[in-house]
Amino acid sequence: MDAELLEPGQRVAALTGLTPTGAIGEVLAFADGRVIDAPARGGVGESVDATGWIALPPLADLHAHLDKGYTWTSFGQPEGSLDDAIACWIDHGEDHSYADIKRGARRHLIAALHAGVTAVRSHTNYHLGDDPLRGVRALVELRAEFAGIVDLQVVASPGPSDGPDDLGRAAVALGVDLIGGFPHLAEDPTADLERAAAFAEEFGLGMDLHTDETLDPTSTGLAELAARTRHWPADVIRSAGHCVSLSTQDAEVRARTLAAVAEAGVSIITNPLTNLYLQGWEHPVSTPRGIPPLRDVLAAGIILAAGGDNVQDPFNPLGNADMIDVASALVIAGHLSPSEAWQVSSTGGRAAFGLPPADGRVDDVADIVLVRAAHTAEALAERAPDRIVIRDGRVIAVRRRVVGSVLDLHPLPVSPSTPTSEGALI
Ligand SMILES: [Zn+2]
Repeated sequence: MDAELLEPGQRVAALTGLTPTGAIGEVLAFADGRVIDAPARGGVGESVDATGWIALPPLADLHAHLDKGYTWTSFGQPEGSLDDAIACWIDHGEDHSYADIKRGARRHLIAALHAGVTAVRSHTNYHLGDDPLRGVRALVELRAEFAGIVDLQVVASPGPSDGPDDLGRAAVALGVDLIGGFPHLAEDPTADLERAAAFAEEFGLGMDLHTDETLDPTSTGLAELAARTRHWPADVIRSAGHCVSLSTQDAEVRARTLAAVAEAGVSIITNPLTNLYLQGWEHPVSTPRGIPPLRDVLAAGIILAAGGDNVQDPFNPLGNADMIDVASALVIAGHLSPSEAWQVSSTGGRAAFGLPPADGRVDDVADIVLVRAAHTAEALAERAPDRIVIRDGRVIAVRRRVVGSVLDLHPLPVSPSTPTSEGALI
């Protein structure tokens, strides 16, 4: 059958006619939830003609705030810096109900799924008002609802940084996956990091901290996180989100920090859209980008992932849960190649999440995103609207282009790009 006709629920035994991309050639075959080297005789599922499509590793959004999504309008359309966004969040947070949180988070997850995202790590605040754990509860429930479709990790901090840890203990009891925090916002960042790390150790959980989300070069939380977690077992997650100050530190400090991060097994999660928006308001001349030096991070051998961070909330009025937008920003603002940007937004994210590889190699899990594009750069440039998401050898989501028509325009011949192998593109 033609790939265009695939619908959610259908099993796929083999894809043929693919435009080769990365590790994937013209044929991709699945059996028992794994990639196999050639289509099996009598394999379960459809044999699909995927001419005109490329197959890419599924996307992973490693830094989301599902509890905040789609609030920009109702919270007064604020505009400004990280401080402004936090102030707006505090002003309106009490009215943000459990139902609001769940509705926004579900909308976010469904949009992400249609875009090809099969793994999301989301932070959640403790919400103002009588029921501070309503965000944790909503996300833990959605994690169960989306099980087997979108893997969701929920991150909550030990407690408000100036208060007791009771909320953190209650959040752990509800089932959070990782311990979070915002040491760079605390009066004593070192003490705050220590508190989060000790809390994570007490419960045997990993940690994902907002780290150095500031252009101040003296903010060195990343190096401190590496030093604090270097003796943790290799399989315990420790991630640092943002790492903005790394972009303002001199080459020597940066190199020393990155070597320590690599040695400690800390993964870095860059959030280009939100940091381009929130950072730099106080620098009208030579406005900095607020994005860590991605090439240096990769060259140091560090796992690098990416996040959409905020979706139409006080921290970013835009954002749409589509990691292709994030990957595009990694190219334009972060100076990665299109293939590197996809790799960071998919394979890197899966590694930081703790998921097995899905690169289309033999024995990888049978998870893939089909994108109607000639190559990865075109997929990013065109925000390729046609996508088919396959997980465990089964179609789980389909997104199709809406074809419009134009009045009185003489039809012009439009030829699609010639499919180009990834090797030729680079
Ligand atoms: Zn964040």
